[in-house]
Amino acid sequence: MPSFVRILIDRSEGRKLDYSVPEELKGQIAIGSRVIVMVRNRRALGTVLEVLEHSDVPGIRSLVSLVGEETSLPPTMLRLAHWMADYYCAPIASVMRSMLPPMLRGETIAGRKVRMVSLARRIEPEELQRIEKSAPKQGAILKHFQMFPAPIASQELLNRCTASESSLKALTVGGLVRVVLERRTGGQCESEEILPGKIPKLNADQQVVVGRLEQALEDLAAGTPTPSPYLLHGVTGSGKTEVYLRALARALESGKSGLVLVPEIALTPQTVERFRSRFDHAGKAGAGVAVLHSHLSDAERREEWMRLQRGDARIAIGARSAVFAPLRNLGIIIVDEEHENTYKQEETPRYHARDVAVMRGRIEGALVILGSATPSVESFQNVQCGKYTLLELPRRADGQLMPLIRVVDLRLQGKRAKSDGGLSAPLQMAMTKRLEAGQQTILFLNRRGYSTALLCEQCGHVCRCPNCSLSLTLHRAQNRLACHLCGHGSQPPERCPECRDPGIQHSGIGTQRVEETVRRLFPKARLARMDADTMSRRGSYAEVLGKFRARQIDILLGTQMIAKGLDFPNVTLVGIINADIGLHSPDFRAGERTFQLLTQVAGRAGRGDTEGEVIVQTFSPASPSIQHARHHDYAGFFEQEISFREAFRHPPFTRMVLVQIRGVSLERTSRTASLIAAVFHAKASSSIEVSEAAAAPLERAHGQYRFHVTLKAKSGVVLARLVREVTAELNLPEDVIMTIDVDPYSLM
Ligand code: ADP
Ligand code: ZN
Repeated sequence: MPSFVRILIDRSEGRKLDYSVPEELKGQIAIGSRVIVMVRNRRALGTVLEVLEHSDVPGIRSLVSLVGEETSLPPTMLRLAHWMADYYCAPIASVMRSMLPPMLRGETIAGRKVRMVSLARRIEPEELQRIEKSAPKQGAILKHFQMFPAPIASQELLNRCTASESSLKALTVGGLVRVVLERRTGGQCESEEILPGKIPKLNADQQVVVGRLEQALEDLAAGTPTPSPYLLHGVTGSGKTEVYLRALARALESGKSGLVLVPEIALTPQTVERFRSRFDHAGKAGAGVAVLHSHLSDAERREEWMRLQRGDARIAIGARSAVFAPLRNLGIIIVDEEHENTYKQEETPRYHARDVAVMRGRIEGALVILGSATPSVESFQNVQCGKYTLLELPRRADGQLMPLIRVVDLRLQGKRAKSDGGLSAPLQMAMTKRLEAGQQTILFLNRRGYSTALLCEQCGHVCRCPNCSLSLTLHRAQNRLACHLCGHGSQPPERCPECRDPGIQHSGIGTQRVEETVRRLFPKARLARMDADTMSRRGSYAEVLGKFRARQIDILLGTQMIAKGLDFPNVTLVGIINADIGLHSPDFRAGERTFQLLTQVAGRAGRGDTEGEVIVQTFSPASPSIQHARHHDYAGFFEQEISFREAFRHPPFTRMVLVQIRGVSLERTSRTASLIAAVFHAKASSSIEVSEAAAAPLERAHGQYRFHVTLKAKSGVVLARLVREVTAELNLPEDVIMTIDVDPYSLM
């Protein structure tokens, strides 16, 4: 029975204080318990870090109460928390907070409904500019929706935009945003049909892979040391999910529990349903599935959490934060689509759920399987250097051929393709054919890629940094081209350096434009558009997919949303409107992302009995990412990508830390950024590269100016030590914020 405890106080920069445990709580307090204590004369939340036999603190106070009932972090999770805090240079308190669902953090009130805010209608750039001028806070809120269109809790929104209720009120009254009181229901995707639970016979490739995994699980049960993680590289449609299901079934048989991570629950309804239909029933294989959904209300989330903690459910499926699911006796962790960027959390603690999963597996002695049709360069490199074990499914499960990919050179299509909203003649012809045959088409527009590169429409030339080989970002206000990674700057050329054409400029076509064109060219076709703008209403995603599956829609036009794990047998054509957009974003992963996206989108074609065709429109047909995707050649892609990374010392050959400096005052923010860069320079050993302070590619967001300082070194440990040393002694102006991002994914 603990008499004294050491408590880590929330939001206190890591302050630890000792308290005594009152008699009535003695049986219930354990390491990881969440408690309320008095700090001076204010109540504060904290986490029990240590249990002490005695304490020398004079006049020690007793803690006030326990939050929740069974809320403790087991020792393994505490070890994970400490690793995360060290590795990601994040405060331990913020790590521990992120490990618990909001209810158990003691920060929200039970059963409360949430006010959800969403955009009420589309807002044109001119209108936004006008609002920004007259009411900057309202402008900030609208801008937030431009970047993150999903509905968001009002408090969270106001915090992020540092705006007040009155701004929100004004926008509501003006009909620009909508506020609804929601007790959000979650879990099932109502209108998506559940696939039959029939268990297919494994094909030869699957048998080999499942055999290896079952052997590893048996060895584990027999007490051998935890094996290194497995990387399952299987082409789209190769039956990876079936492999996960079999491995999971085996782990459950031996009494263990399992964790399944998916990139985004809402975007992977089919995958989730397959797990539910196999395991979520009372039969022999039944184990109880808890789906940790971001649309769950706090109370529902807490209920799922408790089911896992009590052992009522032995499988947890969820996105990023499900990596902390309170599973007991964990036997297997599966990370589906391990290359997806949504696994990276973009606020403190900025962890990558795949990497945390690998570490959790190591700490808890669980088998880890990372699966993808397009493994991340990091993970494949880990195979090369022996850290991960490779398993392969090189063929489609149903014996179908991989779809035929044709590349259309937009430079040759010239002005005409442009005036046709981006549909080249070959694509139009292919669409006509599908409409006549009663087959379905997916049109994909990669719009998320931030397009500020200087692109020549005649020859496809893009201006790149001589030091980093990344595309340079055009800062129109200063009329300068800049590399945001190393700070290199130059004048934008008046003519294309390659072909001397004066028309060099950045290009971009929106989904709306394409929609108009398709309607004009194919007036009889039934068309649905699926992007963040049209999908902000809850349930609309499942609704459109349901209609598409029922063949009530001929052409589905969409963004990244439609690139993931969907399986529609009647889709025989996929058109990629502009493959270049992502390719020229100023990011060393631009090529990788393009390859992944093309391969994933192409994988949506030809899943039924008819062969699929993919048409890729591009200004850079010779780009290695496009060529390798075209030939379904992952190995070739990896080989050229890894040599590029090595030549320019990009990750995974170095570890990277992105220091972002933000503030409302341009002058103070820029000065502080330079100062921070100078301090890092002064303290860094010769093994660390420190960049100059450079304006971020997204120079200004939420009314704040943004600057970057980038650190690179061979060793992550050395970098983390430097970051801690520097942050400990920095004194920032009050209105300037510095964030640290270890292994950054978003370089904007
Ligand atoms: P992946 O996750 O690799 O993209 P899926 O697991 O979605 O692939 O499988 C693709 C399709 O093949 C699905 O419709 C699935 O039901 C089917 N499938 C998987 N394994 C088999 C098998 N052994 N025999 C027949 N069909 C299979
Ligand atoms: Zn550079």
